[in-house]
Amino acid sequence: MKVLIVGGGIVGLSTAWALARRGHTPVVYDQGAVPNPMAASYDQHRIIRLAYGERDGYCRMVKPAFQAWRRLWHDLGEQHYVETGTLLIGSDADDYATLSRASFDRLSIPYDELDKAAVEGLCPFLRLGGNAWGLYNTEGGVLLADRIVNALAAWLRSQGTEIYPLTTVRGADFHNAIIALSDDTQHEADALVVAAGAWTPQLVPDLTSIVEPKRQVVVYLEPRTRDLEAWRNSPVIVDFGGTNETWAIPPVANTGLKLGAGVHRRGGDPSAPRTLEANEATQVLTYFQSHLRNLERYRIVEGRVCYYGCSNDERFVVNTTKRAVAITGCSGHMFKFGALFGLELAEFLTGAGDADAFVRWMQGKAMDG
Ligand SMILES: Cc1cc2nc3c(=O)[nH]c(=O)nc-3n(C[C@H](O)[C@H](O)[C@H](O)COP(=O)(O)OP(=O)(O)OC[C@H]3O[C@@H](n4cnc5c(N)ncnc54)[C@H](O)[C@@H]3O)c2cc1C
Repeated sequence: MKVLIVGGGIVGLSTAWALARRGHTPVVYDQGAVPNPMAASYDQHRIIRLAYGERDGYCRMVKPAFQAWRRLWHDLGEQHYVETGTLLIGSDADDYATLSRASFDRLSIPYDELDKAAVEGLCPFLRLGGNAWGLYNTEGGVLLADRIVNALAAWLRSQGTEIYPLTTVRGADFHNAIIALSDDTQHEADALVVAAGAWTPQLVPDLTSIVEPKRQVVVYLEPRTRDLEAWRNSPVIVDFGGTNETWAIPPVANTGLKLGAGVHRRGGDPSAPRTLEANEATQVLTYFQSHLRNLERYRIVEGRVCYYGCSNDERFVVNTTKRAVAITGCSGHMFKFGALFGLELAEFLTGAGDADAFVRWMQGKAMDG
């Protein structure tokens, strides 16, 4: 089966991998390089973690996601994942840590509940409030995102997969699996996948009111020596507590320490120049002022602007016809499911799957309690 794939991010490349390993013929198009540094999938790291607040469905999908990554590492001959464990800081009755702990209890997922002293022992760079506690999982950690998409593209090229970088798809006919390129040529196949990230609504106008491209800034930092050592041994911090949706990824496998705050996010055009505003990296750090000791002594290495597609209900957005699937993210969540979604998309496209069941599953609803 020949499948046209628009987008060479983690979803497009994983789908191509899953199709190619089954003997099908994916053809990948991207408006930029493959992989494209402007894609949401291109950064040093992305988190994979079990904690999903109240969303039992997504939490349940993380174990299959790990299995899918293991299949990918096997095919690539190399693992691009560092298991650091994950930590969430809780303090309020309805914060993300508390909701995730309740979800773990419902799903019988093992975890450690750490008191304040134990959290400080694990992460001595933290400044914690009096009632802080930690929700810790040994499973979970850092997917080395740019290495993964580079390795996937190299694997696909080694299999002879056709990949067309610098090729913008101007239009897509979802019922007939036809795309139109900017050079006015048209291409048809048995099936079509649109995995165009934050650009998806431009190709699928039906999604304009559902998916909004959002701009997010992450900051790479170099802590002073003593803190650096502690960070190197730190779990991923999925949530520092409070309402700013703050997270941190430790400097594993020669990557940088990275901080981000979901609250520092706004609508924007993913094709716009990726320039930081004056003092914007420093502004992001203000969300961490009350969480990190010695923050004023950290050196800002780089502030980075990224775009992802956001939906109001924070569910993945999946549209299907008989011959096509369009899929895009719900903010900062989809990389971890990349390999799994690739396998599931390939299964759906090449089988006689039930479209409604497929969409419900992809949106984490089929597995909700
Ligand atoms: C700051 C940040 C932090 C995140 N943190 C996490 C995390 O910790 N864990 C996690 O699981 N997820 C995380 N995510 C989300 C995750 O990175 C994205 O959901 C995922 O990478 C999206 O992959 P994708 O393949 O759908 O899109 P993308 O990676 O954006 O790829 C889309 C590709 O489509 C191409 N394209 C678009 N339009 C066209 C067109 N018309 N013609 C040809 N090509 C086109 C683009 O050039 C691009 O290369 C984060 C995202 C951001 C921005």
